[in-house]
Amino acid sequence: MGTKGTAIVGMDVKELLALLNRAFCDEWLAYYQYWLGAKIVKGPMKDAVIVELEQHATEELNHALLLTGRIIQLGGTPITSPKAWYDWTNCGYEAPDDPYVRTILEQNIKGEQCAIVTYQKLLERTRTADPVTYNIVLQILEQEVEHEEDLQALQEDLDLMVKKA
Ligand code: MG
Ligand code: FE
Ligand code: FE
Repeated sequence: MGTKGTAIVGMDVKELLALLNRAFCDEWLAYYQYWLGAKIVKGPMKDAVIVELEQHATEELNHALLLTGRIIQLGGTPITSPKAWYDWTNCGYEAPDDPYVRTILEQNIKGEQCAIVTYQKLLERTRTADPVTYNIVLQILEQEVEHEEDLQALQEDLDLMVKKA
């Protein structure tokens, strides 16, 4: 932990670390949901959907990396056990038990919408209190916004395709 770097944080660091750890758990669950979804998805436009799901999985893992970097920098400990992910998560996990492409898209869109709300709140909380965290959260939020739109665009194409058939 950098002492001055931590001392300039204008909010309770413990509270901030808890918020970052919650988001960290969300990212691992999102990663796994995408990663597995890409393996099992079935139905029309599956190839295009797989490419997007795989890309998002990689990006969610990178969000976990960004968060853990900041957690450690602030003297915190990233959640050490996957068992605890469920206790800490904001957005939960939707098991891809139904492999139909539309269901997989819907589940992941729901996850992205929760992520957007979560990061928007974290952004507001850190805006003036901690510009370093704010900047990291902003980068992540930008990507979650992109993720939602990517998936909704696929959903739209799928609807057009099914309507035409
Ligand atoms: Mg994408
Ligand atoms: Fe993410
Ligand atoms: Fe995302």
